[in-house]
Amino acid sequence: MPDKHTYRADNIFAKILRGEIPCHKVYEDEHALAFMDIMPQAEGHTLVIPKQNAMNLFDMPEDRWGPYMQCVQKVARAVKAGMNSEGLLIQQFNGSAAGQTVFHLHFHLIPRWEGVPLRRHTGEMEKPAVLAANAERIRAAL
Ligand code: AMP
Repeated sequence: MPDKHTYRADNIFAKILRGEIPCHKVYEDEHALAFMDIMPQAEGHTLVIPKQNAMNLFDMPEDRWGPYMQCVQKVARAVKAGMNSEGLLIQQFNGSAAGQTVFHLHFHLIPRWEGVPLRRHTGEMEKPAVLAANAERIRAAL
């Protein structure tokens, strides 16, 4: 898929932001929304997206990083605590050559445990009940 050069309002995360398609929500404020990744690379894999329309890191206005990254840190703490993980991997892809598949800026928060291999990026769909239960654990740790 070629890289997009302009932000498209029909990307899937923009639809989630507008409430047009559902998500397993973990956290929301005026700057950002956090929800469960439907094809998690580990139990508790969470995405944090800004409400600012930005395709990726290069597209995000400089003055919008502060409040967005504060949300990333807040949710990261809750993911680690709620999932009781030993470590937390943060990933962020810029451009299809780098592995980006949804062109609205997002950080992946992926719990890690010693000896538990990472699942494939955009691999298997998780059961809704599992996503709901993990979202509840993370919300409880906020
Ligand atoms: P990236 O490849 O970094 O652009 O990541 C996109 C991520 O969004 C992947 O990990 C997908 O599993 C995830 N994803 C795609 N569609 C949805 C959706 N409707 N709800 C939650 N996560 C999604």
